[in-house]
Amino acid sequence: GCPGRLLELKGNIRVLCRLRPGTPSSLVSSEPGPSGTVTTCYRGRQRRFRLDWVFSPEASQEEVFRELEPAVLSCLRGYSVCIFTYGQTGTGKTYSMEGPPEDPGIAPRALQSLFQEMGTGGQHRVTLSMVEIYNEAVRDLLAPGPPERLAVRQGPAGQGGIQVAGLTYWDVPNLETLHQMLSLGRSNRATAATTKNRHSSRSHALVTLTLRTASPPRGPGTAGTLHLVDLAGSERAWKAGAASTSPGDRDGAQRLREARTINRSLLALGGVMAALRARRPHVPFRDSQLTRLLQPALGPGATAVLLLQISTRPEDLGETVCSLKFAERVG
Ligand code: ADP
Ligand code: MG
Repeated sequence: GCPGRLLELKGNIRVLCRLRPGTPSSLVSSEPGPSGTVTTCYRGRQRRFRLDWVFSPEASQEEVFRELEPAVLSCLRGYSVCIFTYGQTGTGKTYSMEGPPEDPGIAPRALQSLFQEMGTGGQHRVTLSMVEIYNEAVRDLLAPGPPERLAVRQGPAGQGGIQVAGLTYWDVPNLETLHQMLSLGRSNRATAATTKNRHSSRSHALVTLTLRTASPPRGPGTAGTLHLVDLAGSERAWKAGAASTSPGDRDGAQRLREARTINRSLLALGGVMAALRARRPHVPFRDSQLTRLLQPALGPGATAVLLLQISTRPEDLGETVCSLKFAERVG
């Protein structure tokens, strides 16, 4: 690959695709690299999807980050950047975004790179907030007390944007503090639920960094933002809520409700991205909490990167095709 290429691509939404390592399958094949393709063979029909970049199943965390780094660093010039991991549960969204400690993913690498670039000059003020959205409820993962549901409101007229009432914004003086806060947020995300794994795969996690400079940067504004979003699993309602309709099956009913709200917010995200891409006058930001929260970050001049995670397993083929269709719609 050629580092730095991504920012030069036209349009402000890029779609990258990473295949989860596993048994190679003739039903999902890829041609990695810039303008790479993924070819699926589903129900006897062959389809070829082109993406801005395709990472092979062997791609390292470093290789993935290398393509994202220029976008990440543009925050220091006042740009707004959103990076999403999208895909079916188990395809590696959290692996790519966070990664295991011994092989860190996008978030730790991005923070490292930003702090390194800022140096020790102290011209930047960095603030952090972290929320999760679960069943359309927004919770602060860095609040001092137990995570409570927060109200999302339109900001004061003229100032534009969105306000999350009571959300805490933390000043982060250095990289070490930042890493500590992130792991605090992650543990709050996990303990907010009784069934940990399921909860985290059913909720969206948003990390927001704001970088302010005292002196005006060479860019669109004085505050750049970086949103790192680990989206909920994109698997469809019929699967998540399967066999849940029998009366009295509370757990099943809950699953179905989750699947519907997840579908709603992912659908809303797709709708917003498609509208932005087509430069339509109406962008349906209000359709979900996720898109309401990200409205200020997805406006003109912003960069959005969708990292699509897919599985090559034959039993996941339906979901893989769905994910690629989602990417086709927004990218
Ligand atoms: P998701 O967040 O999409 O549900 P995870 O990130 O939890 O998926 O990944 C599911 C499993 O697959 C985890 O055990 C993870 O470590 C592993 N995994 C995913 N992608 C990779 C990869 N590129 N290399 C090695 N292991 C991976
Ligand atoms: Mg996950």
